[in-house]
Amino acid sequence: MAQQLFTLNKLRQDIVRYFSIVNPMESGITKIEFEGPRIAIYTRNRELFVNQDQVARDLVSLIKKRVVIRSDESIRMPKEEVEEKIKKTIKNNIKNMIFNDFFGEVIVEVDASSPIPLEEELKKLSWETMWIIRSEREPAMQTKTIEKVKKLMYGDLQTRVQVLRNIGEKVFRDQIFEIGEVVVTILGSGQQVGRSAILLQTTESKILLDCGYSPSGIRNLEIFPRFDVVDNLVEELDAVVVTHAHLDHMGLVPYLFKYGYRGPVYCTEPTLPLMLMQQLDFISVAEKEGVFPPYSEVDVRLAVQHTVTLNYGVVTNITPDIRITFYNAGHILGSAVVHVHIGEGFHNIVYTSDFKFEDSRTLEACISKFPRVETLIMEGTYGATQTMFTREESEQILAEYINKTVQRGGKILIPVPAVGRAQEIMLVLNHLFEQKLIPEIPVFLDGLVIEATGIHVAYPQYMNKEIAEELEKGRNVFLTEYFTPVKSHQQREEVLEMPGPMIIIATSGMLEGGPILTYLRENAGDEKNILIFVSYQVEGTLGRRLLKNIRDIQLINEEGKPEVINVKMEITKIDGFSGHSNRQELLNYVKNIKPKPKNIVLVHGEPEALSNLSKSISKILPTAKIYVPRNLDSITLESKS
Ligand SMILES: [Zn+2]
Repeated sequence: MAQQLFTLNKLRQDIVRYFSIVNPMESGITKIEFEGPRIAIYTRNRELFVNQDQVARDLVSLIKKRVVIRSDESIRMPKEEVEEKIKKTIKNNIKNMIFNDFFGEVIVEVDASSPIPLEEELKKLSWETMWIIRSEREPAMQTKTIEKVKKLMYGDLQTRVQVLRNIGEKVFRDQIFEIGEVVVTILGSGQQVGRSAILLQTTESKILLDCGYSPSGIRNLEIFPRFDVVDNLVEELDAVVVTHAHLDHMGLVPYLFKYGYRGPVYCTEPTLPLMLMQQLDFISVAEKEGVFPPYSEVDVRLAVQHTVTLNYGVVTNITPDIRITFYNAGHILGSAVVHVHIGEGFHNIVYTSDFKFEDSRTLEACISKFPRVETLIMEGTYGATQTMFTREESEQILAEYINKTVQRGGKILIPVPAVGRAQEIMLVLNHLFEQKLIPEIPVFLDGLVIEATGIHVAYPQYMNKEIAEELEKGRNVFLTEYFTPVKSHQQREEVLEMPGPMIIIATSGMLEGGPILTYLRENAGDEKNILIFVSYQVEGTLGRRLLKNIRDIQLINEEGKPEVINVKMEITKIDGFSGHSNRQELLNYVKNIKPKPKNIVLVHGEPEALSNLSKSISKILPTAKIYVPRNLDSITLESKS
């Protein structure tokens, strides 16, 4: 508490100085509060509230902290009148209005078929009512997950406000230690694909970049990142930064909450619902398999309540000596490259996490220009794969496989991770149907794919321009008339009974659970059918075993008992759809990144892939130090000079 008062007093002085020298006006400030990684200034002055954008911008450059200006309760119009006014002004069909009394904010939800109200219209309403008014459109596809996120965020405002205050107190505490060095410790994803977790320590702060599990591990020591080697991790951790919503990057975030972590989780807006959906599914899959899940729904709920979403490009203080900025990674919806700025120019790290350095059907290529970079931590999943087809070639190959299978009356099974590849493949199939490159046959979608697609539809601004424009017009470019979602057990039974040809797209992508296993069990014995992998198959998974041509596999039968099945169906993989950069794109990234890093740390790849990549990179940047750390290795980074 004393600490908070001290920091707030200092801030207050800076702010008072601003209003007396830079922008002389009666500020009417009634309180200054922490609101997560931002400072909220409450004012009685209507003019200040109306000019908040300009003032907030000025203050950010002055105090180097994110600022939001809010109205004091005493000047806000009564809620009933605000409601009336909003209804009168916004002619669109209003579905719901969510009032946040603490912040003086209203979210107006409009019907899926209505256009979003104009920015000027909302601003004018804000000035008239002294409430910040934002609007959201009901997504074109219903999703349970986004509803759940809203309930957790706004359902218990008191808790959320308290959480944000606590986070702010830690973020804006005074820096006690002088900056000395930065230590990067690899807790997971060292010379392996899976369980991404990188601990970054300065003399002042500890942050964790990603917190995933390993889909192929058997023992706990192989499944979890090596949290066991860090003393007091949960007590001392300042922040968890999640780059994207794949389980090998965020699957164990709630596990930290189970053991008492109560700090912030930073991610982009779409990452939050995608993450919630998969963590809840992770629990239910574990329960179905009779395995004790590593955390419960209570922990997932806590994680959501402690999440702070950040848009791309927004510089945010997350500890007294660390600022982060997210940039588009081109990997999946909402995926981010994290730029970590340490100290005042002491050291800059870019952590790419999973990234694609080429445009895909949904996303633009990963960002490669940064204000500063001394150390690049880069993934190298495909570092060893010499030839990989381009996306166009891959689409042709997919069409050929489909045509061939249709001719022999077979069924086409495409296992997909729910987020990312699934939506890319849906767009590809739409294109192939429209261009008549494949015959019109039924396509069934099963598993989390359907919900994940709904979440995609809700965040058009995170996709490329063409897709965003179509979605803004209310056209669901993913779930077109060619697709039939399978929504019940009974419907699945009916699909299984139907004769081919047909396409089935289902989760999970590496055959480690999910409805794809039912389709596989029922179709594996017929050589007319085909199984097409479109995503990376991690060592140790069933998908990888099938690719190695192991044909006798064990699956759970209808009675819930293990049964050995001989797989006779054709099996193939098409690499070009991957959301990861291929070998050439990885090298191009190193060639293109600006400015040039002095250190390159390669992670998230099998040993062969990373050592291969390391050799090629040393030819591109001969003066750079290249590290290929194993788990538990630490790298000490000095000042940039
Ligand atoms: Zn990923």
